[in-house]
Amino acid sequence: MEYEAVIGLEIHAELNCATKMFCDCSNRTGDDPNKNTCPICLWFPGAIPRFSEEALEKATLTALGLNCTIQERSAFDQKVYYYPDLPKGFQLSQAHLPLARNGWLDIIGEHGQPKRLRIHKIHMEEDVAKLVHETEGRTSISLVDFNRAGVPLVEIVTEPDMRSPHDAMEFIRALRTQIRYIGTSECSMESGTMRIDANISLRPKGTDQLNTKVEVKNMNSIRHLGDAITYEINRQTASLRVGEIIVLHTRLWDPEKRATVPMRGKFEGPCVPDPSVPQIAITEAWKKEMHSRLPEMPSQKADRFIKHYALTPEEAVMMSAERDLSEYFEAVVRHQISSRTVTHWIATQLLPALKERNQNITDTPVTSLRFSELLAMLERNEINANAAREVLDYLFDSDKSPADLVEHHGFRQVSDTTQLAGLVDTVLAENPSAVSDFHKGVAKAMGFLIGQAMQASKGKANPKLIREILTRKLDEDKIIDRNLH
Ligand SMILES: [Zn+2]
Repeated sequence: MEYEAVIGLEIHAELNCATKMFCDCSNRTGDDPNKNTCPICLWFPGAIPRFSEEALEKATLTALGLNCTIQERSAFDQKVYYYPDLPKGFQLSQAHLPLARNGWLDIIGEHGQPKRLRIHKIHMEEDVAKLVHETEGRTSISLVDFNRAGVPLVEIVTEPDMRSPHDAMEFIRALRTQIRYIGTSECSMESGTMRIDANISLRPKGTDQLNTKVEVKNMNSIRHLGDAITYEINRQTASLRVGEIIVLHTRLWDPEKRATVPMRGKFEGPCVPDPSVPQIAITEAWKKEMHSRLPEMPSQKADRFIKHYALTPEEAVMMSAERDLSEYFEAVVRHQISSRTVTHWIATQLLPALKERNQNITDTPVTSLRFSELLAMLERNEINANAAREVLDYLFDSDKSPADLVEHHGFRQVSDTTQLAGLVDTVLAENPSAVSDFHKGVAKAMGFLIGQAMQASKGKANPKLIREILTRKLDEDKIIDRNLH
């Protein structure tokens, strides 16, 4: 029997609010353990939580940006369980009345087809404390850091619409792009501001039943998510083939073993309405205000780039994939440089150079202004592409303007036709065999001769002019040749 995978995701994203969800303690990461704490987030008995308006705003913006419907009323419940990182015995979460429902994101499916993946609901939740496992001499000890206790989260629960590791990975990429655009979370799996659980089950292909699922946790990159799902599909297929029954449980992805390992039975504790945080009522006016605060989203921006700047759909998607990148692109284009040149140079030169140097587009010394000055010189034919690449390299380590660098290193392109014609004559005289190859119709002879001429000019010749002069002179040759016979 052939099986198909049914995959749903639960994503926790930390909201980048200034404070925690129910107190005024800082939401900064990287501080000394237990520094950002108070009686409320140490969960002392009797301390009353005060719900943060910023958390509500950022959760709402996130939900709106993910195409969800904000619910008129939502409320917090106590998710009851005990764990050393949750000594108060319950977590404040929205189990029964979530903030938002019925969202979606579009991805490109495995076979290039557009695919809409639905979001079931988005709710708000406080984070639990963090357990740190260490050794003291020969004794293993576990420490609890409450800096994370009460940090505002949204949990995004998808419908089980994904059928492959590809779908799940693309969904997370789209989600991350979208939320980073909205600016409400950093969404970094590496640093833990985004955490993903995947629910995976199998069913006979062509049926629509939902079978017992297995939950996989602990994936800290998109690649791990894909690997864990692939592993789990293979493991469950093998189990079903030998007639084993799949039991509901939680597994951990072990990146070293490249396998999922069983962790515990899935715990579903009771959820009871919380009496201390008031219900949240959302008015139309407030929702409208939140809507107006949403920035232009990536798909809208890509459409605009196609219309305004005549980019191809692929180029438009690439230039709008990250908000910072799209703003850089537009800043350069504003200097009257052709959008195709800008796209090409960002994609093939700037982005690889940034990656190599481990820099972000927001903090690189190659600012949009300096980059646009460089491309303007290229477009005015003052330098050729080779020289532009070298100047770009210098821009990373020098404060000089592109124009000064071009002067300083003598990169100015030679476009003086008399000078270039003399150079071409020399090259033709020195390479008689290439010339006769050209007349015999050997295609690469032309490339060779252009290369020789560029070399003779130390890379400064205008390659377009070189080609023109060469073509003209070789044609004249042919006429003389014909007249002689
Ligand atoms: Zn606190």
